[in-house]
Amino acid sequence: MNKQMYMDEAEKALLHTYNRFQIVLEKGEGVYLYDTDGKKYLDFAAGIAVQAFGYGKKEYNDALKEQIDKICHTSNLYYNVPIINAAERFLKISHMDRVFFTNSGAEAIEGAVKAAKKYAYTRDGHGGHEIISMNHSFHGRTLGALSVTGNPRYQEPFEPLMPGVKFADYNDLESVKAQVSEKTCAIILETVQGEGGVFPATEEFLIGLREICDRNDILLILDEIQCGMGRTGYMFAWEKYGVKPDILTSAKALGCGVPVGAFAMTKKVAEKSLKPGDHGTTYGGNPFVGAAVNKVIELMERENIPAHVQKIGAYLEKKLDGLVQKYDFITERRGVGLMQGLVSEKPVGEITAKALEEGLILISAGSNVLRFVPPLVIEEQHVDEMAEKLERVFATIQPSAS
Ligand SMILES: *Cc1c(COP(=O)(O)O)cnc(C)c1O
Repeated sequence: MNKQMYMDEAEKALLHTYNRFQIVLEKGEGVYLYDTDGKKYLDFAAGIAVQAFGYGKKEYNDALKEQIDKICHTSNLYYNVPIINAAERFLKISHMDRVFFTNSGAEAIEGAVKAAKKYAYTRDGHGGHEIISMNHSFHGRTLGALSVTGNPRYQEPFEPLMPGVKFADYNDLESVKAQVSEKTCAIILETVQGEGGVFPATEEFLIGLREICDRNDILLILDEIQCGMGRTGYMFAWEKYGVKPDILTSAKALGCGVPVGAFAMTKKVAEKSLKPGDHGTTYGGNPFVGAAVNKVIELMERENIPAHVQKIGAYLEKKLDGLVQKYDFITERRGVGLMQGLVSEKPVGEITAKALEEGLILISAGSNVLRFVPPLVIEEQHVDEMAEKLERVFATIQPSAS
C-alpha cells in the first residue's frame, strides 16, 4: 500500500481528533525516522519529547524483550520486582519519597490533584478546597487534568468541569497571590510551560510560589511531564531553581515510548494523602513499564544525559539565536536546554509542513511557536543538519535573508 492509501484507511477508522502530518512513520534508527515510502527524516520532535534516546537503543530494547518473556502484567494486587527497582531509581533522581505509577501524563495529573485534595481534607476534616493553576498551561485531556488546563478553547465544550479551579498568570506572582484563599490546597504549574508556547518560569516566580505555599500549607505541584527527565539539562527542571515541589508529575520521556507516567510526593504529603481505597489503576506500574523506567533512568545516569543536554542545548541556543538575527519573521527564542521555541510571525503550520518535505520533523507550540524537543542524545552535527534544513524552508519565506 502507498502512503495515501494508508492515510485514507486511517481517516475511515480512527476518530478524527488530530490533523496529522501527511506521512506514515514506519521505523526509527538513532535520531532518524523513516516513513513507509522509505524517506528519511531528522527527528527534532522525539514523539513530543518522549524518545530521549532516539530509536533502536539496543540495551533498552533488550531489557523490554527480556521482560516480555517473563511477565508483562500482574495488577497492583501483588508486588513485582521491575517496578520496585524503577520506583527506587525514580525517587533517587526526583528527591521525592513516594511514587505512584500511571499510564499517562494526564493520569499523573489526576493523581497529583487527588493527593493534594486528600492532604487538605485530612488536615481540615472537610472537602471544598481550591486549586490555583496558570493561564496558557497544559496538563492533559482527561476531565480533571483539563479542569486545571488554562486554555478556554480546550475547556469550553466540556463544561462544567471540576469546580474550585482558579487561574493566575504565569510568572506573575501578584496574580497568584490574588487567587490565594483559606480554601487553596495546591498551586499547579509546569516548571517550563510546553504546549502553551515554551515559557520557562522565572526564578523569582518559583521562589515566590514556594514561599506562598510554605506560609499557607499549600502544596506546590510541579508538572514536569514534558520538561523533566533530563530535557532542560537537569534531571528535573526545578533543580536549576532549587525550588523543590511537594508533588511532582512525570511521563513522556519516563518510559521512552512505553506508556507510563508517575506522580511522586514528599513524605509529609504521603503520610496525609492517598490511602488504600483512595486511588488505583489496573495497568499502572506493571512489570513491563517497570522494566522500561528502570532502564531509562539507569541509562540517563550512566550516560550523564543532563550534562550532555547542557552542552548540546547551549549549541542549539546559539544556532537558534542566529536564526532570530537573520530572519525578520523570527522574533524571539525561548527555552532551556533541549526544550526550545522560536516565535514566528509567519504561520508555524506552514513551516512545519515544509520542514517535513525537507526531511525534518518539527512541531509547534501554541499558535506561533516552533518547538524544538529533539532526542536528548543529539550531537552538534544533528543541530547543524537541522539548521540547514530549516534555513532552506525559511529561505522560501524570506528569500532576501540568504
Ligand atoms: C503531554 C503533557 C501532559 C499530558 O500527558 P499525556 O501523556 O498526553 O496525557 C501533561 N502535562 C504536560 C506538561 C505535558 O506536556
